[in-house]
Amino acid sequence: MAVPMCLIIDDGAPLVNVYWWHAAAGQKTDAPVQKSGEPVVKDVAPDFIGDFVRVISRHGIRGKFSVLPYPAGLGKISEGWPGCDMRTLRSWVRTVRTKVMPVMDITPEVLTHAQALDLKTFALLDENERDWAAHQTEATLTPYVATALRFLNEAGLNATGFTFPWGLRREVEPDYQRAILAAMKEVNGQGQTWYFLHTNYEGNQFLSELVLREGEDWLVSIVSQCPDFLWQTMDTDDTSPEYVRSIADFYVTEDGQEGRLTELFVAGTPVVFHTHWQSMYSNRRRTGLRALEEVGRRVAALWGTQVRWVTCSELAADIADA
Ligand SMILES: [Zn+2]
Repeated sequence: MAVPMCLIIDDGAPLVNVYWWHAAAGQKTDAPVQKSGEPVVKDVAPDFIGDFVRVISRHGIRGKFSVLPYPAGLGKISEGWPGCDMRTLRSWVRTVRTKVMPVMDITPEVLTHAQALDLKTFALLDENERDWAAHQTEATLTPYVATALRFLNEAGLNATGFTFPWGLRREVEPDYQRAILAAMKEVNGQGQTWYFLHTNYEGNQFLSELVLREGEDWLVSIVSQCPDFLWQTMDTDDTSPEYVRSIADFYVTEDGQEGRLTELFVAGTPVVFHTHWQSMYSNRRRTGLRALEEVGRRVAALWGTQVRWVTCSELAADIADA
């Protein structure tokens, strides 16, 4: 039996680099910098989505791609925001709909991935979504989650699962789980769904699991078991082929003997790993995407049909049916 392999991509958004807002809040400045001292880029070049599509198509990579419905609190992706080029925005969304959605699940990552929104006024609250969610309940999380799904639908993007930005306080997770299931049924008429919240890099046991089942309905938690090794490409201007290969080595070495994906593959464990839109963009150098391409090439060359790329939905259905 081929080992399932699934790539989760967080923080996807049209035109803007939401990591800029994250870094600005963390560093308490309007001029956030990378570890290298270089300014964090605020925009992502519109053609980067095309580069990404070429890489996933070439290597048959499947998994999940986050799209922020209201990125950084700027505005809805179906309507744009002040200063945004609507044509470019529409074209980005169209590319995701026609080229990414057929091979990857789409999920929101709550509305803004920055400050929480007041659902009545659409004013930004003082708290970010993580801190805001920490004191919510199923009753208040459900409409928030439902709004994220609805905003994606308005842009023609049909979400099949859910992602929460950063972490979520453990105590809130049961309420969040029920909110996801309720909102997914209400907005998309879908009672079988999944979410990505947890990462755990210890050991080789498969960690994704069924967390709720009620009659025909179920919810699966998909767990990433490999760190985002592409993240470090944001912090260096080294774009040499040697550097790109050295990053790919963290996943799987050229000889197929080492790397975190190798460990999981050898154990026969379905391989779930995650990265970020900004990790592939590498503060405009796109080094991370080149490393991902090299990983895709090595996976195909070394393991061929012994690996089966799957979406999170497909993996979740396997888990629920097991
Ligand atoms: Zn995120």
